[in-house]
Amino acid sequence: MYSNTHPINVLKYCPRCGSAQFPATSHRSFKCRDCSFNYFVNSSAAVAVLLFNEKGEILLTRRAVEPHLGKLDLPGGFIDPGESGEEAAIREVQEELGIQIHSLQYFGSFPNEYVFSGFTVFTIDLAFLAMTENLHQMIAADDVASFEFRKPQDVDPEEMPSISMYNIIKELILHEGKN
Ligand SMILES: [Zn+2]
Repeated sequence: MYSNTHPINVLKYCPRCGSAQFPATSHRSFKCRDCSFNYFVNSSAAVAVLLFNEKGEILLTRRAVEPHLGKLDLPGGFIDPGESGEEAAIREVQEELGIQIHSLQYFGSFPNEYVFSGFTVFTIDLAFLAMTENLHQMIAADDVASFEFRKPQDVDPEEMPSISMYNIIKELILHEGKN
C-alpha cells in the first residue's frame, strides 16, 4: 500500500540507539522498543518563488540535478532549520539565479512527495509572489541549468516535476482568470 521509498519501508533502525526493534506505529510514526525514542514523519517546509516579467510570463527554471534532471521547475528549495519562508525564498533565488527579490507576498501552500536517495520526503511547498528589478541580470547557478519565461497557461503540466509545482501553475491560471 505504501511505496518502496515511503519511510515505513525504508527506516529499519532507531536513529537514537541503533536498535533494530524500531517498528512503525502508524503510517507516520515509529517507536523504539529498546530506548522508547519516538520518531514522527512530518512534512518538510520548502518554498517556490513566483516571478513575472512585464509580459505576464512566469519565470521557470530547468533542473541541473536529480531528481527530475532537465525538467522545468520553479525557483526555490527547502527551508533551513530556523529560517523563515521569506528568508528561504530570498536566499534560494540568490543562489540559483544571482538576483535579489523583494516585496514577497504569500500565495498558498502545496503538499508534495519528494523522492530523494530512495527515500520519500513529504514536503509542504509555500509559494510566494515576489518582485525584482534584476530579471535581465539572472545567471543560472546551483541546481539550475537554465531558465525561461512562459505564460502560465502555456506550461504543460507534464513538464513540471511534481504535483505541487503543477498545482501552483493551475492555481495561477485560475487566479489570472479572476483579474
Ligand atoms: Zn532506540
